[in-house]
Amino acid sequence: MKIGSVPERLATLHYDVDEEQPHVEVDQDEVRRTRTGPLLVRICPAHVYAAEPDGTISVTAAACLECGTCLAVAPPGTVSWHYPRGGFGVGFREG
Ligand code: SF4
Repeated sequence: MKIGSVPERLATLHYDVDEEQPHVEVDQDEVRRTRTGPLLVRICPAHVYAAEPDGTISVTAAACLECGTCLAVAPPGTVSWHYPRGGFGVGFREG
């Protein structure tokens, strides 16, 4: 079995997005107050967080790998993260 590059591997994942209860959100005021935006943008391997021109941090929860890194490093109150409800989230294998 050929082991591909990280982008090739990420392209094989699939996601079932929970539109009713997003599993990752940010508190924009706390992120701004603690200047956590650049940290979130830098540490997420799936590029879930992005800096927007208006200074806010956008969240694309559908790309989340559920690695927990952001929850481990973000100051309390900046990131709200939990595992997706059953049946939702990232799928690492087909079938
Ligand atoms: Fe990114 Fe991992 Fe946090 Fe998901 S859990 S948003 S992949 S750092």
